[in-house]
Amino acid sequence: AAKDKGRNLLHIFDPELNEHRQQKRAQLIELNRALDNKEFELYFQPQVQIADCKIIGFEALIRWNHPHKGLLYPDAFLPTLEASHLEVPLGQWVLEEAALQMGLWHDAGEDLSVSINISARHLMDRNFAPYLENYLHSRPAIKPEQITLEVLESTSLDDIKRASDVLARCKELGFRVALDDFGTGFSSLSYLSTLPIDLVKVDKSFVINMLNDSNDRAIVESVIFMGQRFHHPILAEGVETMDHAHALSDLGCEYMQGYGVGRPMPADNVLEWSRQWRQRHPKRGVSIDNDA
Ligand code: C2E
Ligand code: MG
Ligand code: MG
Ligand code: MG
Repeated sequence: AAKDKGRNLLHIFDPELNEHRQQKRAQLIELNRALDNKEFELYFQPQVQIADCKIIGFEALIRWNHPHKGLLYPDAFLPTLEASHLEVPLGQWVLEEAALQMGLWHDAGEDLSVSINISARHLMDRNFAPYLENYLHSRPAIKPEQITLEVLESTSLDDIKRASDVLARCKELGFRVALDDFGTGFSSLSYLSTLPIDLVKVDKSFVINMLNDSNDRAIVESVIFMGQRFHHPILAEGVETMDHAHALSDLGCEYMQGYGVGRPMPADNVLEWSRQWRQRHPKRGVSIDNDA
């Protein structure tokens, strides 16, 4: 019903456009406003080492606090955004906001890292690497070693040579690079051998059902095997239970992320979550204690 209401409103726009395009256009106007009004928010989901439960960092995941529709997930607006002129400004906002939150955690004594998702088009934008360089220049306190750029395997990086060069430049600047949603694309093997990556993330769609679907389990096994053959550490997404964690650990997977560890949370909850996580896993992964 909400959709139907939206549809009627849209007739005030150019009637020549078809309904779908009208919806996108209306949403784009809203997205423009949302960026100005600071309606976007980053949620953060923990990533931990399976063997000792040590927290390795938090992935920033974008949300839209829509004034009428409430909290919206990326599925509801990224497709519109990523086809628009807002893609680059929003991508820059995500990096800057994630780095800002990380700085606040550091100030509070938590040496946490972040990862951020980079759209293929933003990555391939001519100004991407120069932007990163300028950004680091203007923020000398930021350690790029603590920022991982997650690049989707499923987006066709049309020009893999150029993608590889851009990522190599990012690594020169000190950033880390992860290959996201690995296994869902068509170029898995060539990406693994060509791109300069620090981490491979097994797509959650295979992980979620790996305990009861032998095909999915076979895919997870193969992906981990391939990653290892190329000497890349592996993180599994979609770890919904500790049974998943054990199975993955047996397969040689080093890191995990998923509802079974922690759901994406507002930045303000991260410090408290981290403290509680370490309390629940006392003998493990207390990096601060180890250093002391
Ligand atoms: P992703 O980067 O693969 O992020 C993982 C997604 O899986 C997140 O969905 C997360 O909430 C969800 N997830 C995590 N653990 C579990 C689990 O145990 N079970 C299940 N069923 N799902 C789990 P979310 O936040 O809706 O994000 C969806 C996608 O949107 C992301 O997939 C990423 O590709 C994209 N995205 C999110 N934030 C950004 C951003 O700031 N910039 C760009 N370019 N893309 C983003
Ligand atoms: Mg990601
Ligand atoms: Mg992913
Ligand atoms: Mg995904």
